[in-house]
Amino acid sequence: MPTMIQVARLKERIRDVADFPKKGIVFKDITTLLKDGESLKLVADLMVEEARKMDVDVVAGIESRGFIFAPMIAARLGVGFIPIRKKGKLPHKTVSVTYQLEYGTDSLEIHKDAIEKGTRVLVIDDLLATGGTSKSVAKLIEKLGGIIEGFGFLIELSFLKGRDKLKKYPVFSLIQY
Ligand code: AMP
Repeated sequence: MPTMIQVARLKERIRDVADFPKKGIVFKDITTLLKDGESLKLVADLMVEEARKMDVDVVAGIESRGFIFAPMIAARLGVGFIPIRKKGKLPHKTVSVTYQLEYGTDSLEIHKDAIEKGTRVLVIDDLLATGGTSKSVAKLIEKLGGIIEGFGFLIELSFLKGRDKLKKYPVFSLIQY
């Protein structure tokens, strides 16, 4: 887990954008963090430290911003990466799920052959808000017989209580608001 100084350093790099993509949403823009080499390395190190406490066979990332972190972690653990993509993007046979977002609805898909029964999966995304997205991803992975080893996020919006939706699973986040 990050120290208070590390959390403060990372929070300084995250930009709040009001009313994006919809009025009333304060969007946590992480591009300002990603472009800083030291911050990017710190996030990767801290996520890997948490992931090493788990028994992970593969790391799944949720499109789009989960794709930034999940492969970095997977490579450092020496395990594979699985993309969970928006509808219509994966070329082979898929299973899909439709879910509610903080802003609107969306569908996610995974390749049917991406996970074998009993595979232990760490799921990574940039941000946990209401938890709707992550809960749906858990459904997708469990439909294929995978075991959710845990969820990991850079940012958690604690006031939206997403963690309550993921009670069954270990969850880590590096930064909380
Ligand atoms: P949720 O399903 O409500 O937990 O929403 C999580 C997903 O929506 C993540 O993939 C986030 O990238 C995105 N998201 C939701 N709220 C925000 C926000 N305030 N700032 C940035 N991304 C967000």
